Amino acid sequence: MQHVLCCPIRRELSGPLARADLMSEFPAHIEIEPRVHLVRGLNRGRFPEANTLLIDDEILTLVDAGSDLGQVTRAMKDLGHKLDELDRIVLTHFHIDHKGHAEQLRQISDCEVMCHPLAVKGTSTFQGWAEECGINDHPSYDEWIPLLLEWMPLLSSDYEITGHYQNMKPISCGEVELIPLHLPGHTKDHTCFGINGLEILLLVDIDISRFGAFYGNVVGDIRDFKDCLNHVIDLCPKIGISSHLPNPVSDGLQELLVEFLGVFDKREAEILKRISEGHNTVKKLAAMPTIYPRIPFDPYYFFEECMLEQHIEILLEDGSIYVEGDHLEIARG
Ligand SMILES: [Zn+2]
Repeated sequence: MQHVLCCPIRRELSGPLARADLMSEFPAHIEIEPRVHLVRGLNRGRFPEANTLLIDDEILTLVDAGSDLGQVTRAMKDLGHKLDELDRIVLTHFHIDHKGHAEQLRQISDCEVMCHPLAVKGTSTFQGWAEECGINDHPSYDEWIPLLLEWMPLLSSDYEITGHYQNMKPISCGEVELIPLHLPGHTKDHTCFGINGLEILLLVDIDISRFGAFYGNVVGDIRDFKDCLNHVIDLCPKIGISSHLPNPVSDGLQELLVEFLGVFDKREAEILKRISEGHNTVKKLAAMPTIYPRIPFDPYYFFEECMLEQHIEILLEDGSIYVEGDHLEIARG
């Protein structure tokens, strides 16, 4: 799960990849490294689309399956393959814009489908997805479900998972090696991938978009997210591939990661400001809204509230605010 409103930052890769794009603004796929192809989601990979990676190697592998099926088919065809030749799908986490067409592709190709052990519940069934999001307990659940299913019909599918990967244990595709980096925070199962080492990283939903981090599920966690971002910053990757930006990023990647990390503090400062102005409950803060620039449709109040609640919990723990009756107050002095 990501968000619909961000405008992806247009600070993109310079050099050969950028030149490839001169022919068409955003072709269905581009080569990032020998045998490693970025398959772009439609609408520049914005939710509910996401980019995928196609590893054209001995074991024909797709990392995530959330790009439009036409884009995946096109990429496979251009590289001389049919969909039924796919050997393996590696999923980064349980969100629908990432697991996407995995089950359809598995049925077409009888491929292996791997995920992190913590992704099984959220990936396998709609009920598991709803529980991992935390949406199943929400009072508006019954009202939202038809809307969500109409918008994202694949959510109702069951997905068969055939195996797991382990953190830092390389997955060999032949010449190309994928290194799973379990980086929770966005969700508890969120896993990035190093490509032949850790200098080129599929950042997944550490998506370096202008919106900033999304952690609007009960399995999201601000502190984990910040720790993981600091870890990625320490790795100093040379190329970062976002699941929701149309091009890999090289120039200024470190600055973008630092900026992305800074969004947590900006949101926290805004929450404190609004509480001091009298918007002193989660409902009042969500109604404005405080984290999303606007709420595109009602289910998004759930994500907004879920992120706000996590910030409030941290602010209560560090003594910046306290509960007074039915509302929050700023701690003075
Ligand atoms: Zn996600």
